Parts: sequence; structure tokens; C-alpha cells
Amino acid sequence: MAQPVLTFTDRGIYCPAGDFFIDPWRPVDRALITHGHADHARPGHRRYLATRAALPVMRHRLGDITAEGIAYGETRRIGDASVSFHPAGHLPGSAQVRVEVGGEVWVVSGDYKTTPDGLCEPFEPVRCHAFITECTFGLPVFEWAPQQAVADEINAWWATNAAAGRVSVLGAYSLGKAQRVLSLVDSGIAPILTHGAVEATNAVLRDQGYALPETHYVTPDLKAKDYPGALVVAPPSALGSPWMRRFGGASSAFASGWMALRGVRRRRAGDRGFVLSDHADWPGLHDAIKATGAERIFPTHGYTDIFARWLNASGWQAQVVPTEFGGAEDESDALIEPEAAS
Ligand SMILES: [Zn+2]
Ligand SMILES: [Zn+2]
Repeated sequence: MAQPVLTFTDRGIYCPAGDFFIDPWRPVDRALITHGHADHARPGHRRYLATRAALPVMRHRLGDITAEGIAYGETRRIGDASVSFHPAGHLPGSAQVRVEVGGEVWVVSGDYKTTPDGLCEPFEPVRCHAFITECTFGLPVFEWAPQQAVADEINAWWATNAAAGRVSVLGAYSLGKAQRVLSLVDSGIAPILTHGAVEATNAVLRDQGYALPETHYVTPDLKAKDYPGALVVAPPSALGSPWMRRFGGASSAFASGWMALRGVRRRRAGDRGFVLSDHADWPGLHDAIKATGAERIFPTHGYTDIFARWLNASGWQAQVVPTEFGGAEDESDALIEPEAAS
């Protein structure tokens, strides 16, 4: 029997025909990277290949790497494999990786979101025989409201605080979620301030031409009273930290898919929780899987066991693949036991 197109090793997803890895978690010679989040784009590889749109953020985060950019949809031959990158809709520059060997096609989804958000390149389904899919939110309880409805909720919360003379601090991961939030809010309400981690990423993405509203970086000597009713976008770790003190009695909130769970909302949200995710919800995962036409599905990070069981019962051949994705800056870090997800 011929070798599988992709195999699962202790260093990550590997293509024997092309001798490369996809999003490996230990240093390798050649790494194809789906997107810039730290659990996918790790340091230490000898050579990187990623979309041209993903590279600036990767360089910003990883420093001086040997990296090559590829356009979405462009095919490249690596050994006996043909590879191409296709939009994953997760954040600016994010991609799924298509690998074809001897006429057999496998796709690695990376992290993905199927509904367009107006900021990043919209998700594109790719036909394949086997699909390696994330399933961070692979439970029926996760079904996202339309993006505009969430934007309206955030704007209403901010406007109410601004009218009461309060600052609003919104926790959002510095790459992806923060820029999505910025692209959704009504910048006419009051000024927008950003934590340094968010602003550094904004600067990289603005340089690439992604449209973001005007923001003011919170320097140590910034006076909150000069920005009455401001919205502050900061990484979740800044919420409740001493950094927050400068904003006085601010209202705080958190934007994440996990806010769909009441228990998490109580523990993490500050005053408010907005259900906004850069991952596919339960219907999105199904739509994406159906659209690939794949017979074999490999669920990775998320509710893999439950999701694989459901796939197997629904006519697919599903097999869980343990991975080391998930980390301190993506929603995949906050995995909740299914019991809590009722
Ligand atoms: Zn991610
Ligand atoms: Zn991830």
C-alpha cells in the first residue's frame, strides 16, 4: 500500500512525499504554516512557507526567520507533492493547506471560520479525499448569531458606558479577535484606545492594507480623562490587571465563542460577555466538512471525541488526531468540559 499523503508524528502533521511538516510543534527543516497564532507558527524551523498575507505578522512575532510567501491558490511542487494555500477565514492571512500526491488530495484546515467577517479573506471550501479539521467548538450548543447582531450589542454597551462617562475595556486576543472587534465597532461613539500588544499587530496589518479605524496606543503617561467614554481594546490577560487601574471604574467585557457558555461567562467575562468567535460553530463545521466532499475526516483540537463519534454515526470515517494546538492567545486554550457546555 502506498504511504498516506499525510502522517501524524510527534513533531506534527508530516508529508512523506514532500518531506515537510504543517504547523509543526517541534523544530523541523521545512514548515508550512497556516497562520500566525503562536500554537501554529512556532519558532525554530529552518525554513517557513506561508501566505504572503500571513508573513508580516509571523516575522513580527518570530523575528528573523527564513520564510517564503505564496499567493492564495498558487500551486507549488515540493518533492513529489503539490501544495497550495486557500483562505481559512480565521484571521488576516490565514490558510488551509491542500496537499496532493499521486492524485490523492488531503487538506489541513488550520483554524477556520466559515462566515465572512469583512476583514479577512473569506473561507473557501476545498474538495479533497481527506480533511484534517479543527473542532474547537464542535458541540451543538455552539451556534453563532449573525456578526451584525453581536456588533450591535457591543456598540450599545459601549454607547451606554460612554453616556455615563465610563470607559469600556474589551478583552480580545491581540492577533485576529482585536482587529475584528475594531472593524465592527462604531468609531463615532468615542475615541478608541489600544493596549500595546494590540497596537503592534494593528500596525503590521495596516501596513498590509487591512482597513482598521483610528486607534490611540495607551502609553504609560496617557491620561484616561483625555479620552472620555473611550473603548479600550486589550488582550484578555490585561483585564483585571494593574494596567486597568488607569481607567478608573471602567466597565469590562470579553469577546469569545466561550461566552456562549453561562458558566464561563460568569467566571471570565468581567461585566459583559460577547459571543464572538473566529472559529467555526457547529453548523459551520458541518457545512465545511460537507463542502470538501471528503470521506475521511480527522478532527484535531477541540471536542474531538464527541465530534468524531457524531461523524462516524453520520456516515463519515472519522479518526481523532491528537495535536498540540491550542494556546494562550487563541480560543482553543479555553477548552471546557462537555458537562459545562449544557
Ligand atoms: Zn488560530
Ligand atoms: Zn489553533
